[in-house]
Amino acid sequence: AKDKGRNQYCLFSSTMHDSVRTRHDLLRELQLAIDDGQIVLHYQPIVDLHTGCVAKAEALVRWQHPDHGLIMPGDFIALAESSGLIVPLGEHVFMQAAHQVAAWRHQTGRELAVSVNVSPAQFQSEGLNSTALLSTLRELNLPGAAVTIEITERLLMESTEQTSRKLQEFRDAGIHIALDDFGTGYSSLSYLKRFDIDLLKIDKNFVDDLTGNSQNRALCEAIITMSHELGMKVVAEGIESQEQHDWLRAAGCDYGQGYFYSRAVEAGAFMRWLCARDD
Ligand code: C2E
Ligand code: CA
Ligand code: CA
Ligand code: CA
Repeated sequence: AKDKGRNQYCLFSSTMHDSVRTRHDLLRELQLAIDDGQIVLHYQPIVDLHTGCVAKAEALVRWQHPDHGLIMPGDFIALAESSGLIVPLGEHVFMQAAHQVAAWRHQTGRELAVSVNVSPAQFQSEGLNSTALLSTLRELNLPGAAVTIEITERLLMESTEQTSRKLQEFRDAGIHIALDDFGTGYSSLSYLKRFDIDLLKIDKNFVDDLTGNSQNRALCEAIITMSHELGMKVVAEGIESQEQHDWLRAAGCDYGQGYFYSRAVEAGAFMRWLCARDD
């Protein structure tokens, strides 16, 4: 559709098939994109449901392609993961997010934080260089608490010595660990006991139709109660309506994220949106 074309582009659309694009070409292009500054972050607010204030923003990666416009992560993250490119890409994302949150803190005087998605592949041997990342935080004068790392249940399931050690290094530095998409993966509650997780993100699936579906309500209530008992905070994802917001707030959910507050937007737009609120 033409109206969608400018700012959203599907890499695997039929027009692309016509242009005989191979996986290899795409990879080369993505590699160049990282070096060329085409990899940008959009930010979506995470609201503290107890105070009503914005606590942090999740950094969501986009590829600003010179010909195809804005390409969404669903169209290139899997390719990056399977090729190993996720390592330089992920490092770039982390550094960019850290610089951005440092700038925001400086600008606003508020203790904002940024939440960064990290793929399981980044925890493998030559992956995520925790030493480099932590020294960047020090150079920026950022406390660890300014950064949250979002991991998935898959990482915990496939966890090695290495994973545990890297997670522990981050936690020792004060970085919070969030378990993303909770309830959709290979959930095993034993992971929650075995790993130090600070936050659970309830997947949008359970938040959808909260008002109409009593099973979703029961699941959300159970997740919130269990998390609090285990000393974790809860973020609900994919909040799109006032009703969902009200229900989750009343149920004791700690944070909310979703289109109801804002979509993910460019850094500048995020700051303008934040400053226009009275929190
Ligand atoms: P995610 O981590 O679960 O991120 C939430 C996704 O849901 C985002 O899509 C966000 O824009 C969308 N979303 C947020 N609120 C709502 C809502 O109220 N309604 C609906 N319908 N959607 C909502 P996005 O930006 O397309 O990202 C998709 C996925 O790509 C992310 O899912 C994450 O798994 C991955 N991703 C994004 N950025 C990165 C990154 O820097 N590194 C890695 N490894 N993965 C990333
Ligand atoms: Ca996430
Ligand atoms: Ca998620
Ligand atoms: Ca998700």
